[in-house]
Amino acid sequence: MFLTIAFYGLIAALAEILGGALVVLRKQWPSSVQEYLLALSAGFILALVFIELIPESLRTIGLQAPLYMLAGYSVLHFFEHTIVRHLHFGEETHHEAMVSKIASISTFGGLFIHAFFDGFAISAGMQFDFALGVLIFLAVLLHKIPEGLTIASVMLAAEHRRQTAFLASAAIGVATMLGVVSVFLLADVSSQVIGISFAFSAGIATYVGASDLIPEINHSKNRIIPVMVFGGMALFYASKVLIAPHGH
Ligand SMILES: [Zn+2]
Ligand SMILES: [Zn+2]
Repeated sequence: MFLTIAFYGLIAALAEILGGALVVLRKQWPSSVQEYLLALSAGFILALVFIELIPESLRTIGLQAPLYMLAGYSVLHFFEHTIVRHLHFGEETHHEAMVSKIASISTFGGLFIHAFFDGFAISAGMQFDFALGVLIFLAVLLHKIPEGLTIASVMLAAEHRRQTAFLASAAIGVATMLGVVSVFLLADVSSQVIGISFAFSAGIATYVGASDLIPEINHSKNRIIPVMVFGGMALFYASKVLIAPHGH
């Protein structure tokens, strides 16, 4: 079980590193592709949250669940936007003066915590219910390349060396793996912890979908992009039918 879950975590981490490599190698990466990925991911995650994660959390740990969901949401908000001033998803296109060395390092810290909890959500989901965990994995995977683009381009905008920018995206890939492993350490403590971790992950996913991704999509000048959020919801439904969690 550990190896299987670690394997999925590794794929997510590699997608992150691929995003970083694209920026560092200056491969032409049409910004519309990035926007489509973010929009699909947002729709997918929000459908996942409302249709699976919230009801399953309530069913598992009852009325304690909303408290852990709020805690999950708050942890990401705290690390991404209370501590970090300038963090948004997608390739950094702001004037270079906006991204100081300190801002780039705090962005790195914010995304490190974010990516840790991406891995955490995949692992908690898969240990709770494997098929449901696969859906969480897909939700994470869809935004991993843009996440790698984000950190590498922020590092370059702050005039770090290319090698450093690439290493930053690799380190964030490693954070994803640390998140995967941490749930196994918690699971050794008690199985009740898996239910709590799962509810916590529902809050994490809510933050990623609604507070990290949706604002980026709504800034897009291409008006098709916001519509693609519904495409993400449809993609979720198709994936759910194919993967059929808990046999229904
Ligand atoms: Zn910016
Ligand atoms: Zn992420």
